[in-house]
Amino acid sequence: MLKIFYPKLYASSLVEIEPELLEKLGFKGILLDLDNTIVCRDSNRCSKEVGEWLGELRARGFKLGIISNNSRRRVGAVAGQLGLPSVHRAVKPLVSPFRRAMKMLGTKPEETALIGDQVFTDIFGGNLCGLYTILVVPLEGKEFWGTRLISRRLEKIVLARLKQYPEILHGQWD
Ligand SMILES: [Mg+2]
Repeated sequence: MLKIFYPKLYASSLVEIEPELLEKLGFKGILLDLDNTIVCRDSNRCSKEVGEWLGELRARGFKLGIISNNSRRRVGAVAGQLGLPSVHRAVKPLVSPFRRAMKMLGTKPEETALIGDQVFTDIFGGNLCGLYTILVVPLEGKEFWGTRLISRRLEKIVLARLKQYPEILHGQWD
């Protein structure tokens, strides 16, 4: 029952996700959450490491896109800098914005991975759409109050359960 909230893979950060693995798993498109996944919530700039990681994925031919619940202004600022297409005010975990984002990339659900830092928006929504979901540890920085007070507390329950499944850490969860 709780499995709909579980990611297929859990990584400490974006840069820990090996592009080779994403290639091996046969993905064409990668959808990325914005806040606390690509950039800290209080910054418009990604780290040098994240910039390089995105460049590497692009060089390998992956189609990349941002899917965020944040505003057009915020999402546009980061996406514009990185030269990535984006869906803003996505209202994750609803499925329609994920479908819109895949249409934007031109990929099917089975060819698309979703990477995000929140269980109840990114992972739940991605799983509902049949995407390969990857949970990352949130970047440091301020969080939206609703995230901090509600979502993170509930996430602890799911994360505690996840520890019983070490195969998630190795991407072998089915
Ligand atoms: Mg996030």
